[in-house]
Amino acid sequence: MTRLLLASRNAKKLAELRRIMTTTGVEVIGLDDVSPYDEAPESGATFEDNALLKAREAVRATGLPAIADDSGICVDALNGMPGIFSARWAGEHGNDEANNDLLLAQLRDVPDERLTARFVCAAAYADPSGNDVVVRGEMPGRLRRAPSGSGAFGYDPLFQPDGEEVTAAELAPEAKDAISHRGKAMRALVAEIERYLG
Ligand code: IMP
Repeated sequence: MTRLLLASRNAKKLAELRRIMTTTGVEVIGLDDVSPYDEAPESGATFEDNALLKAREAVRATGLPAIADDSGICVDALNGMPGIFSARWAGEHGNDEANNDLLLAQLRDVPDERLTARFVCAAAYADPSGNDVVVRGEMPGRLRRAPSGSGAFGYDPLFQPDGEEVTAAELAPEAKDAISHRGKAMRALVAEIERYLG
């Protein structure tokens, strides 16, 4: 059976990719299933650069075909920031509460009608034969003035996707997968790479 490495330790991302790949006969493993290696810093200028960096490095370190993603939230009133800096917007990597508080403070004087934003995800594939592919998925919506819901992570409690009455944190996981930036990017990537995986 073909093994495909998802270059991530995020259990939710791994479970999501496994759901998408169930019918393909490809076994998806994560970074916890391979020997540890030094992961490169996210030094690219775009989501696509960072996703490709991580996928290529995983191939180099393990010899397995690999998928990696990079994602974040782009706020129109902030010229697309936090963007690739979303995870560490308030300084400390992964401090969701501090990131959300800072974002709300920055948007205090922005009128409601300009609180539009989108989640973006670039998903990349690379393999030992030198093939690589990168695709992008987006979920447009708008920011709330206060968080709502607890069933998620990151900026989800502040973000109301277009077409929904609730925040992304209040959607069931499968409902979010169906419309999310990551769900769209991963489904598009799998469709692109099925021919490489045999
Ligand atoms: P990374 O792609 O794992 O580097 O994550 C980037 C950061 O973007 C996360 O730490 C979150 O702050 C934010 N982010 C990305 N996708 C989502 C999402 O689906 N919901 C909420 N926050 C997200």
